Amino acid sequence: MARYTGPVCRLCRREGMKLFLKGERCYTEKCAIEKRNMPPGQHGRRRASKMQGYGVQLREKQKVKRTYGVLEDQFRRYFEMADRTRGITGETLLQLLERRLDNVIYRLGLSTSRPQARQLVRHGHFLVNGKKVDIPSYSVKAGDVITILGRTQKNVTIEHAIEEVKGRGIPEWLSFDATSLSGRIVSMPTREQINLPVQEQLIVELYSK
Ligand code: SF4
Repeated sequence: MARYTGPVCRLCRREGMKLFLKGERCYTEKCAIEKRNMPPGQHGRRRASKMQGYGVQLREKQKVKRTYGVLEDQFRRYFEMADRTRGITGETLLQLLERRLDNVIYRLGLSTSRPQARQLVRHGHFLVNGKKVDIPSYSVKAGDVITILGRTQKNVTIEHAIEEVKGRGIPEWLSFDATSLSGRIVSMPTREQINLPVQEQLIVELYSK
């Protein structure tokens, strides 16, 4: 599966917000947004100040795509799925993305970033309801239990992540048992529980043109 491999802080600067793509660094003053929150490129600031209509809608889409590490084709498939589902399309879109296994691993605090979670999932470190799942886009559902593969419980990356993200808290729709190192999907996430400052309605407008 293709993925973006360029400089990630540049993506945050382009969107003018933290996308949390670099793990621990994102929470320190070394973060590029903390140091210099300005779009990249010679005319970055001028471009941003002129934005309206289509440009604003496009930026909202890019923020979401980049946050979850999803490329255009896959993102459009998520949108089409959301569009076919009963409910508010924008919210359903975010809910579908939030249910991705790599995102859940990140939200549970088993990785310091979504890109790291994606790699850990790919390497087969997690079980969903006792079965190994190595597909980052796997969609979890309420009641699913996520555990770490036995031989992985001593994985330094995961141990380090657990230490690092302690105290950051996990969303209400998830629960985590630190003794057994297992997570549970308590319910499907609501919009209020998805901590993502975007206007998803603008993405719906963009795709509805
Ligand atoms: Fe974005 Fe993290 Fe880089 Fe900050 S450190 S600009 S949040 S990727």
